[in-house]
Amino acid sequence: MTATMRAHVIHAHGQRPRLQAVAIPTPGPGEVLIRVTACGVCHSDIHAVDGDWAPPSIVPLIPGHEVTGHVVAHGPGVAAPAIGTAVGVAWLAGACGHCEFCLNGMETICLAAEATGYTRDGGYAEYVTARADFLATIPDGADLVRLAPVLCAGVTTYRGLKHAHARPGQFVGIVGVGGLGHIAIQYAKAMGFRPVAVDVDPAKLELARRVGAEFAFHAVEDGTTAVLEATGGGCHAVLVTATAPRAFEQAVDMTRAAGTTVFIGIPPTANDLVRLSIIGLVNGEKVIRGSNVGTRLDLQEAVDFAARNLVVPEIETVAFENAALALDRLRGGAVAGRLVLTF
Ligand SMILES: [Zn+2]
Ligand SMILES: [Zn+2]
Repeated sequence: MTATMRAHVIHAHGQRPRLQAVAIPTPGPGEVLIRVTACGVCHSDIHAVDGDWAPPSIVPLIPGHEVTGHVVAHGPGVAAPAIGTAVGVAWLAGACGHCEFCLNGMETICLAAEATGYTRDGGYAEYVTARADFLATIPDGADLVRLAPVLCAGVTTYRGLKHAHARPGQFVGIVGVGGLGHIAIQYAKAMGFRPVAVDVDPAKLELARRVGAEFAFHAVEDGTTAVLEATGGGCHAVLVTATAPRAFEQAVDMTRAAGTTVFIGIPPTANDLVRLSIIGLVNGEKVIRGSNVGTRLDLQEAVDFAARNLVVPEIETVAFENAALALDRLRGGAVAGRLVLTF
């Protein structure tokens, strides 16, 4: 008889996940089996469930890509991490290792990249398999529940900030203070930047101040003018974690001449276009770039910041059984910080 585990499974796009018993997966060559301690609930999980990105996620699917746990078994050919090691499983589940992007330190955009909880099963389950060479190792003593959001929200904002090319002491705007934004503020501060938070929700501006924003402005009531005045001409870089097109447009206006605006928020497909001033970009010699999750190096660096308590995600734990309710709440948008499934 095969041993079973409990997992939340999507059988068709648009359905709510169903909690059921499935076989514990067997780690293949190069893979390990991980007993899951915690799994963060990310907005991308909703897109995986709904099947609204092209190409859509596989079905049936176990979602979840902010996974922490311990290695409990090795597949063929695996020597490390040792059994019992605390590890993290992120969105980037694998890449080819030899294309032009992989060779150039951009495995995040490898055309053959695999994604946890999207092209393979993720962490809304008691066990998950993952490629051993794509795991983050988590230092002893770290809080595996608190740290779970670092596996996506953390690494994504951290790489975005690396792409911002700001220097310590410079102003870095964080537009959108949700699951990603409140973590971005902490990375920005830990990296020596001066975080300037922007949101439309007073409660989120309060959260921004609590986690280290030097300024927190309401996007409409204070507006771009307040940011330009506080920073003496605009932020040296701005990271956009919001999803409304207007937030991206405003972020470019909040960016100082010669500065970089980094887009990391992902809107619904139907709401994917922005309007920008060409003259503003030309005359200001501004840079706009996208940034997508993170490489294995970004991931390990992001985990190390959190393991040293320089970045502490605000979390609300949700019993594993209630994953579908957690997704409903995230859809509703009324979540400050990050929901994390625990056993
Ligand atoms: Zn590749
Ligand atoms: Zn995510």
